[in-house]
Amino acid sequence: REPLLSVRDLHTQFDTDDGTVKAVDGVSFDVEPGETVCLVGESGSGKTVACESITKLIPTPPGEITGGEVRFDGEDLADLSSKQLRQYRGGRIGHVFQNPQGALDPVYTVGEQLVEAIRLHRDVSKKAARKRAVELLDRVGIGDVSERIDDYPHQFSGGMKQRVVIAMALACDPDLLIADEPTTALDVTIQAQVLRLLNELQEERGMAMVFVTHDLGVVAEIADRVVVMYAGKVMETGDVYQVFENPSHPYTKALLKCLPGRGRALETIGGSLPDPTDPPDGCRFHPRCPHAVPACEEGGQPAFEDVGGNHEASCVLYGTEHEQPEALEADDD
Ligand code: SF4
Repeated sequence: REPLLSVRDLHTQFDTDDGTVKAVDGVSFDVEPGETVCLVGESGSGKTVACESITKLIPTPPGEITGGEVRFDGEDLADLSSKQLRQYRGGRIGHVFQNPQGALDPVYTVGEQLVEAIRLHRDVSKKAARKRAVELLDRVGIGDVSERIDDYPHQFSGGMKQRVVIAMALACDPDLLIADEPTTALDVTIQAQVLRLLNELQEERGMAMVFVTHDLGVVAEIADRVVVMYAGKVMETGDVYQVFENPSHPYTKALLKCLPGRGRALETIGGSLPDPTDPPDGCRFHPRCPHAVPACEEGGQPAFEDVGGNHEASCVLYGTEHEQPEALEADDD
């Protein structure tokens, strides 16, 4: 059976004054129905561009999707016209972005915006759409809905606004929710509430999620599977427990060391992301990698190697020629 979403060898680039940035450079991942897949990495890793490319939300120009395939429920999204894609967005595929302000129109009440979102995708009367809007606002935890439905976005706090945006994204019962750092702009308590809400809604509705974050604490809470990205490439993928318990790629290990609350002080990864217009040959992580061997500097990104279970890493240390797991084990704290 085909996955709900299948992204294969996706390439998205941007023309900049400094040259071409291959923001997403051959990224592949699948999402099964009801599953949460977290795309994780530092800023500049390409995770946001990868998720925006799914429904072609890339501004063109300067952006361009130059290759690859995105299949949703068996349909190649690249074949769809912009009108058909708009039907998917906000219909079977919902979006929630980091900044709720940008997703809401300041001149209409939240009720008007919800009713419009519902009627854009469903052939229902205004009255029926308003009834559904009330149900949705209630479900996402907006208290006093009969009062608040006629308020304007600026009358809501940041956390409440994000709840309204989630209600809009859920208006048409999407099969897939794409959430890009949806809690980053919120304070910690509200963040936890919104994550809990997304988890509950997902369980109730059996909806799949692509969740973009740089925060591994959030990943631990929400993910079924993790796709670790670095400089436009996937470094490691696996079940969330496998990746956290047995991080295999040196970049994932370094990221996990940055996670506080695991019995050690917060560390940062030495060095910085490579020049996006001129990434290094070989493994893109090699200039920062404490385990690099000469083979890491040649050719392209290493092939994915199975590191046990449904868990793969793109690193020469797991290849048959350069098998030297002791070097990695010695690094494990
Ligand atoms: Fe490090 Fe080489 Fe593995 Fe890249 S391929 S992560 S540089 S050891």
